[in-house]
Amino acid sequence: MTATRVLVLNSGSSSLKYQLLDMRDATRLAVGLVERIGERTSRLQHTCLTAEGTREHNGPLADHDAALKAVAEELAKDGLGLDSPELAAIGHRVVHGGMFFTEPTVVDSAVLTEIERLIPVAPLHNPANLTGIRTAMALRPDLPQVAVFDTAFHTTMPESAARYAIDARTADRYRVRRYGFHGTSHAYVSRATAELLGRAPEDVNVIVLHLGNGASASAVRGGRCVDTSMGFTPLEGLVMGTRSGDLDPAVIFHLQRVGGMSMDEVDTLLNKKSGLFGLCGENDMREIRHRMEEGDDGARLAFEIYIHRLKKYVGAYYAVLGTVDALAFTAGVGENAAFVREAALDGLEGLGLAVDRERNAVRGDGARLISPEGARIAVAVVPTDEEMEIAAQTYALVGKDG
Ligand code: AMP
Repeated sequence: MTATRVLVLNSGSSSLKYQLLDMRDATRLAVGLVERIGERTSRLQHTCLTAEGTREHNGPLADHDAALKAVAEELAKDGLGLDSPELAAIGHRVVHGGMFFTEPTVVDSAVLTEIERLIPVAPLHNPANLTGIRTAMALRPDLPQVAVFDTAFHTTMPESAARYAIDARTADRYRVRRYGFHGTSHAYVSRATAELLGRAPEDVNVIVLHLGNGASASAVRGGRCVDTSMGFTPLEGLVMGTRSGDLDPAVIFHLQRVGGMSMDEVDTLLNKKSGLFGLCGENDMREIRHRMEEGDDGARLAFEIYIHRLKKYVGAYYAVLGTVDALAFTAGVGENAAFVREAALDGLEGLGLAVDRERNAVRGDGARLISPEGARIAVAVVPTDEEMEIAAQTYALVGKDG
C-alpha cells in the first residue's frame, strides 16, 4: 500500500493543533485541537472530514504525550489510526530555524539538538515545538518526522535586509538579526498568487500582506523572499492585534528609566497590550469596524494607525522590488475584511495599485482577484493554508518512501 497521508502537528505550550491530509489529492481527512494541556479542564475537539462528524472530549490530559495519544485514539475511531501503513510522515511546525535550517528537514538527534540550541532566540515557541516532535517520535519511532520552519522562507533575504545596523560583533555573538516569521504562509501565498495569474513563481514579484492577529508583510522576488516585516522576533513591523510593531528602541529605555517598568513588564506591554488592543482596547477587526460605525474616535484612530503602517510597508516593498506584479492579502483580516483592503490601497492608484469596489465586496473561499479589469498590478485575496503547505513540504521530502 502506498503511504500518502501526512499528519501535521502544531504544538504550542499548552495546545496541540493537528490535521491529517492525504497528499494523493491534497484532501483533508481530519482536523482537531487539544487545548489546556496540563490542566484539569483539557479539551479535545476532533472533526473527521470523511464522515462529517465532530466529537469533543473534556477531561484532564496531563501532558503532550497524553494529548497525542488521545488524538491517535480519535483518529483510530475514524479508521485513520496513526499505525496505518498509509501514514507517510508527521510534519511539525517549528517556529524558529535560525540561519541553519533553510529547508524542511527530516528530524534526527542532531536536528533536535540544533532546534534546542535556538531556544534562547525563541523561548516561547521552540520548547513547545520540540515537545511535540519528541512525543510524536516516541509514538511512531519508525516514521519520518519532518520539521518545517516558520523562518525558512526568509533565509533567502540578502544581508542588507537581514542585518540590523548595530555593532556587527555584538550582533553575531548573540545571533541578533532579522529572521522573519509566518514564512510557511508567505511561501504558500506567494506561490498561489503566481498560480492565480497563470504564471510561474520564478517570473513574478509579489507583495504578501499576512494580516491576522499577528501580521507581517513580505517582498517576494521570483519566488524568493527578499524582505519581510517581522524581525528578530515577531514584534517588529506592522501594527498587530496586540503587538506594537515598529518602535524606536529608546522607548524601551525610557519606560524602564523613567516609567520604572521592569524588562518583563515592557515585554508584556509591547507583545500583549499594544497594537490595536493597546490603542483602543479591542483587537478584533470586526469589533473595531462596528465601533467606528458608532462614531468611536479611539477605534477610528487605532484603525488609521494600522492602515498608515500598512501603507508604509506597501510603499517600501514596492521600492525594494522595483517591479511589482501582484499584491496578495491573506489571513483572518486580509481574507475577510474588505474595508481594510480598500483602505490599505486607497490613494495608491498612481503606483498602479487599486481595488475594484464590487470585486472586493464579493465574499468567497478561494483565491480571487480584486483589482480593476486591466490593472497593471494584480491585487488578490489568497486564503492561506499553512497546514497544507507543511504537509506538501513534508511529503515532497519523504515522498513515497515513507
Ligand atoms: P488569524 O490570526 O489569521 O486567525 O486572524 C484573526 C483575526 O482575523 C481576528 O482577530 C479578526 O480581527 C480578524 N477577522 C476574522 N474574520 C473577520 C471578518 N469577517 N472581518 C474582519 N476581521 C475579521
